[in-house]
Amino acid sequence: MKTKCLIIGSGPAGYTAAIYASRANLQPVLIEGPQLGGQLTTTTEVENFPGYPDGVEPFQMMDDMRRQAERFGTTFVSGIVTKVELNTDGSKLKAHKVWVEDTDLYEADAVIIATGASAKYLGIESERTYKGRGVSACATCDGFFYRKKTVAVVGGGDTACEEANYLAGLCEKVYMIVRKPYLRASEIMQQRVLNNPKIEVLFEHNTLQLTGDGKVEGADLVYRKGEPDEQLRHIAINGFFLAIGHHPNTELFAGFLARDAEGYIITDGASTQCFSLPFREGQGVGLPGVFAAGDCADPHYRQAIVAAGSGAKAAIEADKYIKSL
Ligand SMILES: Cc1cc2nc3c(=O)[nH]c(=O)nc-3n(C[C@H](O)[C@H](O)[C@H](O)COP(=O)(O)OP(=O)(O)OC[C@H]3O[C@@H](n4cnc5c(N)ncnc54)[C@H](O)[C@@H]3O)c2cc1C
Repeated sequence: MKTKCLIIGSGPAGYTAAIYASRANLQPVLIEGPQLGGQLTTTTEVENFPGYPDGVEPFQMMDDMRRQAERFGTTFVSGIVTKVELNTDGSKLKAHKVWVEDTDLYEADAVIIATGASAKYLGIESERTYKGRGVSACATCDGFFYRKKTVAVVGGGDTACEEANYLAGLCEKVYMIVRKPYLRASEIMQQRVLNNPKIEVLFEHNTLQLTGDGKVEGADLVYRKGEPDEQLRHIAINGFFLAIGHHPNTELFAGFLARDAEGYIITDGASTQCFSLPFREGQGVGLPGVFAAGDCADPHYRQAIVAAGSGAKAAIEADKYIKSL
């Protein structure tokens, strides 16, 4: 199948790109991927997306976006992109190729990548049990629900310190559960955490399991696991925030696009234009017709409104590119 504009991903970035691309008459095709509606559908309520003064149930919000894109002529394809062959030879006449489920080939003048990023979890059973009921991977998103309560942040890097400080502004007490005997964060972030009277850092602790009746009420920890002085400890908490990193869903593009050390797609400053390989900082060469929007290209903000905004930018840039052909 041939299309002018192909969008990969059905999160806020993909749907917003679809709304803009379809209103620009590009008749986009959107490949939904493994998680219809994107990461937001793993939470229970969204209170910070403009236009919903009373908050909104995430499935409802994503369905609203989808219906808006549908109204203007987006075609939705259920399936996962398993292979791409992006046109790297600079010829504007050659289309980019995208395969869905290895078999269905789509050829597109412009491709908007909106494949998101997945938060990393510890992998303990009770994380799944309490997901959305005390377990969160986003302090900016969910911190407000824990005002004046006690929470724990897992991780010892810059993000974990940032999240702990942010939560300390809202919560009564914040534990930081750190595997190592030190913080990996930058000196300044460490000082902010260590000087914050609301934050207690639990060095050399691992989480064994979360406990609670239907929602998180506590965590069983182990101090110096496997060492002769190993000790078990229980803390009472209302929220458990993972801050051990994210995994951008960008492996598909590894041989074609510039990505940073963590795998986030590198774009051209304020633009969503992707760079081809080989890539050198400050001397990147844009890959014509390939744009990245949302969390897959955003190691910093990872918020639905920011993803939606970049989806709009990508569609506007794709439209401009297509009109230049
Ligand atoms: C628990 C939690 C709560 C959150 N709460 C809030 C909140 O309250 N407010 C807020 O603003 N933000 C919140 N966020 C962050 C928000 O969800 C993200 O910033 C936003 O969803 C990013 O949008 P996106 O479109 O870039 O990616 P995603 O929403 O991650 O969507 C990615 C899409 O790409 C698709 N995809 C991936 N791989 C492929 C493939 N190979 N082929 C085809 N499709 C593929 C997936 O199916 C998915 O549809 C929260 C995040 C989490 C995890």
